[in-house]
Amino acid sequence: MKAIQKTEPKPGAVYHEIPDPTITDSELLVKIGAAAFCKSDVDVYEWAPSVATANYELPFTMGHEYCGEVMEVGKSVRGFRKGDHVAGETHVPCGHCYTCRTGNPHICGNNMGIVGRSVHGSFAGYMILVFSWVPVTICSNSCQISDRLFEGILSSLRTSKKQSKTRFFR
Ligand SMILES: [Zn+2]
Ligand SMILES: [Zn+2]
Repeated sequence: MKAIQKTEPKPGAVYHEIPDPTITDSELLVKIGAAAFCKSDVDVYEWAPSVATANYELPFTMGHEYCGEVMEVGKSVRGFRKGDHVAGETHVPCGHCYTCRTGNPHICGNNMGIVGRSVHGSFAGYMILVFSWVPVTICSNSCQISDRLFEGILSSLRTSKKQSKTRFFR
């Protein structure tokens, strides 16, 4: 597949062919339908000090605002089917610490990762999502998703404490 990656610790990015990802039992394979640019993508592209000093492992695929279609579902993942339209949150909580296990993965203090930096992101044909705690909602084929939208969804869900059709993974 084609992907936009950071391959070197300096300004710029590379658009090139990389192997298609393969999933483990706890992951979803998502075909990216739409991805949005964010200011923090510019920071990654320009290799701003906040990025350069974070010791991210290279290469990585950029992009953290996205939606797409589930193409493959890991054996241990529940609640998703091939063909579901999904979008993911930006942050990558550990999923194991007390904070995560008590419903607050958005403030996980255990070296929280970032999609498109510490794990491969959405500027690619396919992306892997890991079943975890952070909300993901179904979206249309053509939607664009931003962090702000997710924060709004998260806040309203936590405030209302209602069950919804929103489903959870990172
Ligand atoms: Zn963003
Ligand atoms: Zn955690």
